[in-house]
Amino acid sequence: MLITPSVSGTQKETPMMQQYNRIKADHPNMLLFYRMGDFYELFHDDAVKAARLLDLTLTSRGTSGGQPIRMAGVPHHTVEQYLGKLVNLGESVAICEQIGDSGASKGPVERKVVRIVTPGTVTDTALLNEKINPYLLAVQVSANRRAGESIAGLAWLSLSSGELRLMEVPIEHLAQELERIRPAETLMPSHAIDLFARLPVGTATRIPDWHFDLQTGIKYLKDQLGVTSLTAFGCEGLSLALSAAGALLQYAVTTQGQSLRHVQNLNVERETAYISLDVPTRRNLELTETLRGCESPTLMSLLDTCSTAMGSRLLRHWLHHPLRNQHIAQARHQAIGALLKDAGIWRVINRELRHITDVERITARLALLTARPRDLSSLRDALHHLPKLHSTLRAVINDDPLLTDLYKNLAIPETPLSLLKNTITEEPSVMLRDGGVIARGHDTELDELRDISENCGNFLVELEARERARTGISNLRVEFNKVHGFYIEVTHGQTDKVPCDYRRRQTLKNVERYITPELKSFEDKALSAKERSLAREKLLYQALLHALLPHIADFKRIAQAFAQLDVLSALAERAETLGWVAPELVDERAIMIQQGRHPVVESHIDRFIANDCVLGDMRRLLLITGPNMGGKSTFMRQTALITLLAYVGSYVPAQSARIGPIDAIFTRIGAADDLSGGRSTFMVEMTESAAILHTATENSLVLMDEVGRGTSTFDGLALAFAIARHLLTHNRAYTLFATHYFELTQLADEFPQSENVHFSAIEEGHDNIVFLHEVHAGPASQSYGLQVAQLAGLPISVIRVAREHLALLEQQVVDLKARRLDLFCPPSSEFAINSFRDNSITTENVTSLASRYGEIKASKTLFKQNSDDFNSVLAMTKVTILERLASINPDDLCPREAMNFLYELRTLLNRDN
Ligand code: ADP
Repeated sequence: MLITPSVSGTQKETPMMQQYNRIKADHPNMLLFYRMGDFYELFHDDAVKAARLLDLTLTSRGTSGGQPIRMAGVPHHTVEQYLGKLVNLGESVAICEQIGDSGASKGPVERKVVRIVTPGTVTDTALLNEKINPYLLAVQVSANRRAGESIAGLAWLSLSSGELRLMEVPIEHLAQELERIRPAETLMPSHAIDLFARLPVGTATRIPDWHFDLQTGIKYLKDQLGVTSLTAFGCEGLSLALSAAGALLQYAVTTQGQSLRHVQNLNVERETAYISLDVPTRRNLELTETLRGCESPTLMSLLDTCSTAMGSRLLRHWLHHPLRNQHIAQARHQAIGALLKDAGIWRVINRELRHITDVERITARLALLTARPRDLSSLRDALHHLPKLHSTLRAVINDDPLLTDLYKNLAIPETPLSLLKNTITEEPSVMLRDGGVIARGHDTELDELRDISENCGNFLVELEARERARTGISNLRVEFNKVHGFYIEVTHGQTDKVPCDYRRRQTLKNVERYITPELKSFEDKALSAKERSLAREKLLYQALLHALLPHIADFKRIAQAFAQLDVLSALAERAETLGWVAPELVDERAIMIQQGRHPVVESHIDRFIANDCVLGDMRRLLLITGPNMGGKSTFMRQTALITLLAYVGSYVPAQSARIGPIDAIFTRIGAADDLSGGRSTFMVEMTESAAILHTATENSLVLMDEVGRGTSTFDGLALAFAIARHLLTHNRAYTLFATHYFELTQLADEFPQSENVHFSAIEEGHDNIVFLHEVHAGPASQSYGLQVAQLAGLPISVIRVAREHLALLEQQVVDLKARRLDLFCPPSSEFAINSFRDNSITTENVTSLASRYGEIKASKTLFKQNSDDFNSVLAMTKVTILERLASINPDDLCPREAMNFLYELRTLLNRDN
């Protein structure tokens, strides 16, 4: 552990530090744990960093280049705990062991990096979160990034499950995909590093560009999958993803120091396979994480009653990957239905699964040859439960295709099971080095060695009895001491009876000590029996691991079936316990939910009020008004969650749900600054809205909550109006649009596909307000803002002043309305439009309109005490003009009329400026 100080004044490093520096140079971007005796030591900057992150004592020993060598260390037997901490912090570690014999050569003992632990490549139970798969991802981007058609190729791998996936997406969708995959570590080519600056990449690991070579990537993949062509995997032409796969596999193999035998398949993902959920939507719906970043209460925390960690991981995956393919979801609904039969077959399955270990992760460790003895015994025990599961399933599979598949996949793998049964002892020790792992009866040599070390005493007693009988020397003794080993002791008076095969070993004052060929051979065995039995066990254990390798695919198949069965049983349990129903997925355009509930809110309050939500081709947008706290957001979110759950394959919290094809769910909910990204609340709001308006289709479900609140009232109102209108007329998406702008409720007058619904409240006395949480047709009558503020605990004096001010404002609005001279109110605009329609537009009409507008301007004096009021009127007029413009059917106007109309309106507006 000591570093010999360098000779004062010289720059020369000690041979050991020279060795350290050489090894460190190969691993510049990770912490190097350098084994010295019972410690792993870190030096220089690594020591400073580790001391800070792990709360270690920083010391210094010796000097290098005149500077003290900083140093920190961790004991080797607790290294896993430190590794876990570092990996969670996103650090990577290279573990350098002593591999040479310490006395063998003159210089420092030979050392080598034997293991690299990085956030994306951990497979050790101690370092993994059992409910989350850490993904290692590599991404390559197309070179012509300025051409406007830039593509990103992704390849990602879960080393702990063996799944490998590829995908190519337009670069604009990269953030969305990274949010979905949530890699623990991302390998990125040096040339594109800035592209990832603000993306959710986990630990960013920079890889030299040449690791992303396409041909190498193809070769790596072919070798990995053991094929001569990749055609069958559907990844032809995905050159960026294939390049990324090359870098990915190369990195994974290097860190493991092993080939990845459990990576046997490749899935190519298409963006169109899943219901698209963009970054804000995934967050707003709080699928697996609350907006504050907690694990509960979320949809996942409500649903996860899985019995195994495999099930929990798959459920998490399903929630983030609702498939557009209705058949897959329908098959899951049907399977849940079957598990609910016969008083809940799921109960038996849940019970059985509770005894089952993490077969998926054990399989990965098996493939990497790092499985520990307890991994193998629990794998064996898990397989023992297969017959019971099999017979339980047989009773319900009937015509259920999904359960039939699972039934088949849970077939007992006889060969590996008997290998495990015959080789591993019932309860093996934790570490192979402690022995007691290989079952008795498996190997005669091992049994013998164990007998020797365990039954040494018995043998000696038995030998003593035998030799006394043979020689007739009644006081003959068989003994052992460390210096001379085993011997037969005979007193001097009896030595004449000693048989000729006795060889003298030692003469003492009163006794002679002998050895016989039998005792000698026992001694040889016994003295080294312990070490030899441990070495033998190690050998047999390695042989077992290798014998199990050809069965990796069997174990993977079983692990996947366990996981699926677990999720389906958990969903069946949830359906029964929470009173959920099977949704109906249909071809026609519809989201028809009767008596829907918000699954998470419902589980936290005493009485949840169920509500209907009906959207379809003829009812595309619901404009939702009502007081704050009235239930608008809950209603919107529950609609999205029910839709999502239906496509995940779960039952849903409703009386019935009939849902047509869905390609995306979008949410624009809540206001948050993105300060680190340099975007204000309003900018965030508009960026998210823009993304929705550009992408939503008539099969998309869009939730818009309070759009336009981040700016001034009239800007906001105008934007909210234009956005709602665009969603109705261009996107034609299913839209739930909650707003406080009552002006927007007029939308329903113009667009028959838009409808008003509201949540209401009743006032109890002067101070109290009761929210009904029921959705009703029509717009809300008031917003109860002050009552809600009072409920929130605003000082009563503030509420009083607010009431007075509100009364004043309301009076002003009445006055303003009176002075608007209803210029563009329906009668006037109708008059104008009819004039256009009748072709009776004349200079006189327009002048008349203009003069009315002019009257407003002239009335400026009325408002001169408050010029804001006047500006407000003008702004409202602009909105009205826009509304009127929107209501004209351009097809009904001849080109000239249209032009004239435009010019005249412009004149009107310009006069104002
Ligand atoms: P809004 O969006 O109108 O401000 P929320 O949807 O945020 O209101 O609802 C506020 C609270 O009201 C929720 O946190 C929940 O406790 C309760 N709530 C909402 N909807 C219901 C409902 N349908 N039944 C019972 N309570 C509800």
